[in-house]
Amino acid sequence: MPTLLITGANRGIGLEFVRSYAESGWCVHACCRHPDKAKELKEIPGDVNVHRVDVTDELQVANVARSLRDQPIDLLINNAGIYGPRTGFGEQDYQAWSEVLQVNVIGLMRTVERFVEHVSQSELKRIVNISSQLGSIARNRSGAAYPYRTSKAAVNMITKGLSEDLEEKGIVVISVHPGWVQTDMGGVKAEITAEESVAGLRAIIDNLTPEQSGHFYSYDGTEMPW
Ligand code: NDP
Repeated sequence: MPTLLITGANRGIGLEFVRSYAESGWCVHACCRHPDKAKELKEIPGDVNVHRVDVTDELQVANVARSLRDQPIDLLINNAGIYGPRTGFGEQDYQAWSEVLQVNVIGLMRTVERFVEHVSQSELKRIVNISSQLGSIARNRSGAAYPYRTSKAAVNMITKGLSEDLEEKGIVVISVHPGWVQTDMGGVKAEITAEESVAGLRAIIDNLTPEQSGHFYSYDGTEMPW
């Protein structure tokens, strides 16, 4: 059975990905910051292995990569993310902005660099970066949300770069927009549930072809403009 490794697995979209792939019989390595508090995650039936990973912590990421060194990872989903302060122009909190970049951008790249050999040794060789419509420059018609928007635009640039750098290893890399999802981040008024989001995303991920590497898709299957 194939293997998934995912970050930010203890709640929201990440938790639903674990549920969905575990139900399909996959081996899942579910990474979260506080395994001791991840009750819902630990109750998911199936081959679910929980690891302590804060993506901003080099040692934690490297330790898990080392402990799984002989384990091919078919699908790496970089899901962990924070929104940061919801402030407008003229009110930036630069420290908070830098934390958003540490998690969403640097943490994502660190995870890819530490696990790329595991992905390279697998059958499927897929990396999925959870981006956002808010990271699309073409779709930005309302300004604001500078920390989050810049972080997801950077995620998209990483996706494109990785699709070039990892092509020779046969690794396919995409960015996805999960929709506006009812999670702690999306809020209760969001348009879709985590189940709907993950069902849509899986329809894309499970049917990926090498030609799709370096592209950006919405959960509904449409291609997103950068
Ligand atoms: P949630 O806020 O529900 O969950 C975020 C997850 O990221 C949690 O598991 C959280 O862990 C984890 N996380 C935060 N910081 C770190 C860190 N330093 N190291 C490891 N894990 C961390 O968000 P969603 O499930 O909604 O979001 C998942 C992804 O989808 C994010 O990348 C988000 O940007 C993206 N997205 C979400 C949208 C939405 O409408 N919900 C829309 C577009 C994109 P902890 O519990 O420890 O804080």
